Amino acid sequence: MKEILHGRRQFFRGMLRNVSLALLGVAGGVGVTKRRRLVREGKCVSGGVCSGCDAFDKCGLPRALSAKLAVARTQDGR
Ligand code: SF4
Repeated sequence: MKEILHGRRQFFRGMLRNVSLALLGVAGGVGVTKRRRLVREGKCVSGGVCSGCDAFDKCGLPRALSAKLAVARTQDGR
């Protein structure tokens, strides 16, 4: 009886672990898909915080252009 309970417990632990990993994978996939869609649609992917945004160099949104202008002015000393 004890071995049956142990085996059952192992089975449920393994199942819970696999379901958790699957949910993490699905959540990551949804996040990546959403980010790609936003980039494709020309929408901000970082909540409007351009400093530290991965897409800053290639971004053409007004907020990023303004930030680039401000950076260029700062570097020129104007
Ligand atoms: S660079 Fe700025 S505007 Fe462009 S996606 Fe990143 S946070 Fe948004």
